[in-house]
Amino acid sequence: MEKFDEFDLFLKGMPTGTQEFTYHLGLDFFRKMESSDVSSGDVNVTLSVKCVGDVYKLFFTLEGVIGIPCDRCLDEMEHHVNATYAMSVKYGDEYYEGDDLTVIPESCDTFNVARVINDTVMLTIPIMHTHEEGKCNEEMSRLLDEHSAHGNADDEDDTKCDPRWEALRKLKNNN
Ligand SMILES: [Zn+2]
Repeated sequence: MEKFDEFDLFLKGMPTGTQEFTYHLGLDFFRKMESSDVSSGDVNVTLSVKCVGDVYKLFFTLEGVIGIPCDRCLDEMEHHVNATYAMSVKYGDEYYEGDDLTVIPESCDTFNVARVINDTVMLTIPIMHTHEEGKCNEEMSRLLDEHSAHGNADDEDDTKCDPRWEALRKLKNNN
């Protein structure tokens, strides 16, 4: 995975108090992060870093839109991203990633936030995501509906048509 200098926080050189950073996530960001389902991106990220003692408190605010495939018709749909994420980073002996605290070794001058930002975007995508009712690609929906209607009418038949099921069935019968 490619590194992003833009997303490297120079923690060691950070003055006390709160620092603010802004990022824009376009399609190139999601490509580099290998989030292959994302087909477009326009997300603004604000990151505030507050140094409290030896702990850096990071607070991310994400707002924008990404394009992902609809589960019903497979065409691109808009997914609105509206999320916040908080984490703490601290220097220590070795790398450790906990729920609330990430420890990075003293040898690291920087902490890269690209993965955290990408993960935060991905977590906003519901398991089932579709266009609004009636907004799907009609032709595709019709084809998929016909397929599932057939499957509901006779599940046995449907699994017979699927080569993967056929392979599984053969495996089962051999045992
Ligand atoms: Zn759709």
